[in-house]
Amino acid sequence: MAHRPYIVGNWKMNGSRTMLAEARAIDRAALRYPDVQIALAPPFPFVGLLREAVNAIGIGGQDCHTAAKGAHTGDVSAAMLADIGADFVILGHSERRRDHHESDSLIRAKADAALAAGLGIIVCVGETLHERDAGQAEAVVSAQVDGSLPLGDAALEAAQAYKLAVAYEPVWAIGTGRVAAVEDVVAMHAAVRERLTAAYGDAGAKVRILYGGSVNAENAAGLLAAQGVGGALVGGASLTADAFLPIVAAAGQGEG
Ligand code: PEP
Repeated sequence: MAHRPYIVGNWKMNGSRTMLAEARAIDRAALRYPDVQIALAPPFPFVGLLREAVNAIGIGGQDCHTAAKGAHTGDVSAAMLADIGADFVILGHSERRRDHHESDSLIRAKADAALAAGLGIIVCVGETLHERDAGQAEAVVSAQVDGSLPLGDAALEAAQAYKLAVAYEPVWAIGTGRVAAVEDVVAMHAAVRERLTAAYGDAGAKVRILYGGSVNAENAAGLLAAQGVGGALVGGASLTADAFLPIVAAAGQGEG
C-alpha cells in the first residue's frame, strides 16, 4: 500500500501575483524530492496562474460547486477547475463546514462532481475541541468519513488510482499552533482507515490519509513518521518556500 507521501499546501484566502515566486521556488525544489508528491491549492484567481508557473507540482482548488455550470453566482465548478489545468480539489475543509455550513451530504455531492470532472480530491474531516473533550472524536470523524466520501464506481476507480485522499484535521489544531499528539493522530488515522476499508474494500488501502493542523518544520518529521500518516495538509506553513520545503524534506526522509 506504500505510495509517495502527499504534501499539500492550502493557501486558504491568501495569495497574490507576488506569491507566484514562492510557488516557483517550491516547484524548482520539488525536483530534489521525486519520492514526495507535492501540491499547492491557492485561491481560485491564482489557480490558472500557478498552473502556468509550475511544472513539477500539482495545483488544486479549495472548493467546487456540485453543478458543472449554471446560475450559481460566485461559485466555481469542478469542470472549470479541470479546464484551467487543476489536478485536484480540497473539499469539506472545516473552514468551509463552519463558514458556509457545508454538510457531509453536500461535500459528497461536490466530491462526485469533482470525480466526474476528472479531478483528484482531498476530503477533510476533523473533530472540534468540544467533541474531543467529550470523547466523541472517533465517532464524529468516522461519521464524517461515512457521510462525505464519494461512493460507487467512480470513487473506487479514483481510490485505485491514488486520486482520493482524506485529510484528518482536528479543528482545534488548525491555525492555532496546537498539534495533535502523535498517539492521537495514529488512533484517528486508524479509525479513518477502518471506514475507508468498509467503504472501498481493498481499494481503501490506497486512499492516503493526510494529517493537518499546525504542521511546521519542527513537528513535521514526527508526524509524518507516525503509523498511517500518508502526508500532510499544510496551511500557514505553505505560504513561503522557506517554511514549506522543510516539511517536504521531512516527508522525503520518511520514505527513505
Ligand atoms: C489547513 O489549512 O488545512 C491547515 C491545517 O492550516 P494550518 O497548517 O495553518 O493549521
